[in-house]
Amino acid sequence: MAEIAIVGGGPSGAMCGEQLARAGHKVSILDEHLVWEKPCGGGLTHKAIECFPFLLDNSYPKKLVHSVELISSEEHQATLDMPHPIVIYSRTVLNGMLLDRAKTAGCNVQQSRVMGVETATTKPRYCVEGEWHEADFLVLAAGARNQLVPESRPLERDELEMTQGYFVPQTADAITIKFLPHFEGYIWSFPRCDHLSVGICGSMASHTSTELRGHLQTFVNKHDISTEGAKFYSHVLPSPKERTLSDRVVVGKNWALIGDAAAWVDPLTGEGLFYAIRSGELLGRSLAEGQPEKYPAWVKASFSTELEFAARIVRRFYRGSFLGSAVTTRMVQFLRRSPVFRQLMSDLFSGTQDYSSLKRRLWGHLGITLSEFISSVLNLDRSAATRVPRAGTAGD
Ligand SMILES: Cc1cc2nc3c(=O)[nH]c(=O)nc-3n(C[C@H](O)[C@H](O)[C@H](O)COP(=O)(O)OP(=O)(O)OC[C@H]3O[C@@H](n4cnc5c(N)ncnc54)[C@H](O)[C@@H]3O)c2cc1C
Repeated sequence: MAEIAIVGGGPSGAMCGEQLARAGHKVSILDEHLVWEKPCGGGLTHKAIECFPFLLDNSYPKKLVHSVELISSEEHQATLDMPHPIVIYSRTVLNGMLLDRAKTAGCNVQQSRVMGVETATTKPRYCVEGEWHEADFLVLAAGARNQLVPESRPLERDELEMTQGYFVPQTADAITIKFLPHFEGYIWSFPRCDHLSVGICGSMASHTSTELRGHLQTFVNKHDISTEGAKFYSHVLPSPKERTLSDRVVVGKNWALIGDAAAWVDPLTGEGLFYAIRSGELLGRSLAEGQPEKYPAWVKASFSTELEFAARIVRRFYRGSFLGSAVTTRMVQFLRRSPVFRQLMSDLFSGTQDYSSLKRRLWGHLGITLSEFISSVLNLDRSAATRVPRAGTAGD
């Protein structure tokens, strides 16, 4: 039985702790807040639910949303109806549920702020209230603001997104996503059981916080969302580049990074909860087998190829144009016209369609304009697209 200390009791740390305690290890989870309303949309895709059915099959309060309103920067609108709902939690509830599972599995969960870590020693150490403690292995699950990266490097400015938002005491039935002109990011409104999480995310290297605040204010005013009595939040979100995913060290001889600390977030959508929980599970399993060095390969096989793909296309998606209009505007227009495209986007949105197998699905199913459009966003071979017979209803 090994002694394992996990710094951070968010979704990644709690899931990792649960796996390890179940495998018989002595696990301590240390979190400065424990159960708290971490700034987040709280949305879980069907991919997450399929992998972890307990996220849906439980009695904890959550909202199931089947409809997404997409609004272009020029105010074109389209609705996506999704066969599989996005499951939206308040983070207090989600973190509480995952920590309860970790405790039930046998983890010792304590409210403490870890001030420093050391991994060069034979046994890794961590410091709480001026006292150093030893463990056999240290898991760093302290999120995107975490500076505790012993033998790796902190994320740079262009590998992070800035987010701002409000928890608004109001409800809705659909998710809203709004794109903005020349803006790498988007505004969202995620309805929860008894409030909305409304926010904006944008590349830290390209946009200022004043710019974000201005866009968000315009949005809430236009959509009659009252921010009176609403709680304001701001936070950072990893937005991995290809180099982040290929170069950054995530495991050493006696330590590993999981979740946001490892930058496992989809840079296109900002989805991080699934990758946090999954990376916690994979590290937990590799440690339980006594082979933490297998963790990066398991992550690669499970999801990091997808994140690399998203990192390659993110700039073209938010900044690119197609036939004289922004890619995001064309996307909303095509959604209105083509049922085949709508189906495809619903699947991408709910996570049942991954990026890497998109190309295979596309050929032969969409008309020439739509195939060209998707090829341009995904940077695929366009000549292949023009060879496609006009089988779909592209609405061009
Ligand atoms: C505004 C916003 C909206 C988002 N919306 C979504 C969404 O709708 N869907 C989605 O899938 N993802 C979303 N994400 C991403 C998602 O929130 C993260 O990917 C996810 O929380 C990562 O989980 P984690 O366990 O790695 O880190 P976190 O959830 O950040 O947990 C880290 C934990 O470590 C603790 N901690 C930090 N430092 C210390 C320390 N020194 N000592 C002790 N404890 C410490 C913190 O208290 C915290 O509890 C959003 C992110 C943001 C910022």
